[in-house]
Amino acid sequence: MNLARVAQILGITESRLQGLQETIIRESAWPEPRLIRFEKEASGVEAGTVVFENGDIVFGYPKIRRPLFLAPAIERHFSGAVAVEEKMNGHNVRVLSVSGETVALTRGGFICPYSTEVARRLVPEEIFEKNPNLVLCGEMVGPENPYVAKEVYPTDSIDFYLFDVAEKNRKGTAGVHKTHELAEQFGLKATAFLGQFQKDIAAEKIRHIVLRLGRQGREGVVLKDPENQVSPIKYTSSATNCSDIAVGFKYYNDYATDFFLSRVVREGFQSVEWNESEEERGERAQRIGESILFSMIETIEKKRAGENIVQRVIIHVRNLQTARDFEYHLRRSGIRALFDPPMPDDEGYQIGITKLVMSTNDKTQALLDGEMW
Ligand code: ATP
Ligand code: MG
Repeated sequence: MNLARVAQILGITESRLQGLQETIIRESAWPEPRLIRFEKEASGVEAGTVVFENGDIVFGYPKIRRPLFLAPAIERHFSGAVAVEEKMNGHNVRVLSVSGETVALTRGGFICPYSTEVARRLVPEEIFEKNPNLVLCGEMVGPENPYVAKEVYPTDSIDFYLFDVAEKNRKGTAGVHKTHELAEQFGLKATAFLGQFQKDIAAEKIRHIVLRLGRQGREGVVLKDPENQVSPIKYTSSATNCSDIAVGFKYYNDYATDFFLSRVVREGFQSVEWNESEEERGERAQRIGESILFSMIETIEKKRAGENIVQRVIIHVRNLQTARDFEYHLRRSGIRALFDPPMPDDEGYQIGITKLVMSTNDKTQALLDGEMW
């Protein structure tokens, strides 16, 4: 690796880069191609930034901040208009071509074998033949997403939606309008563009959009500067906050307490900002309460009936090796999962995956046995 060149592209000094190599930079030799990745943000280099062995550098996808009280946040953050895009709920991947092979990087900068197989199926190779430095930033969504399985999108397997475009060896991304143009040009799906509003009326428009998305079980919106001058911000529907809370309480001992607190606080601010009626507040309270209680009760009753608390997902792969590699990838990511024997079908194999939630399992059993909290 040419340290001087890499440091220059990353915008840090060579000695700083050397220092980081001993702290937050990790090597990943598998799957090929080999790479180093930034495990955390440092000196303005985003977490998930990757340097491949051939010298290609891909910056991490930037964090998106979240206001809780929308109108004043929009007023402070944006200068003129606000572009509204749907926020889709799956996992973030950066798809690119390294030495002629398409790979999909996770947020943290690992090559995910399953996401890579999906990307090779959905992203035509000629895009990268014509644009070798292109980095397609998008969300993989659908019921066969083994990280975040969701039924609400128009796919019965897994799909890829572009939401930003970057270039190798360059910080920054193309922004909302350029991204949609490129998606059209490349024939890729993109996260829905839901309108562009002057900032004084944007919050009210977004309230209606988020309410509608919520009724459809969709996650929410990402607000972007049409000129790409300031960073995007995100805002989610009550339906998503509550479905997160429900999932969290189902596996209550495997989630950090801040996961619950932050989502309940979002609900409080949204209710106040939207000037809800007593009736609407009652409904919200009910929704939050049910998300907490019903899913947790389900877990406790399941365990009492002698069942294990697990998460099930089914994926399809074209190639058996993808399944084996993905099993290994989950293990190295600290996710405990059992893979069923593959079942051949028309286009490859169906694989059932059981994700284990050990902590909630053991805790629930212990409490049912009469142990103290
Ligand atoms: P963060 O990105 O703020 O670190 P996080 O990892 O918890 O947070 P989310 O809360 O899901 O992730 O919000 C940001 C993510 O939303 C992005 O990283 C991206 O994967 C996803 N996303 C979905 N739709 C869009 C969109 N239209 N524009 C930008 N990002 C989107
Ligand atoms: Mg997400």
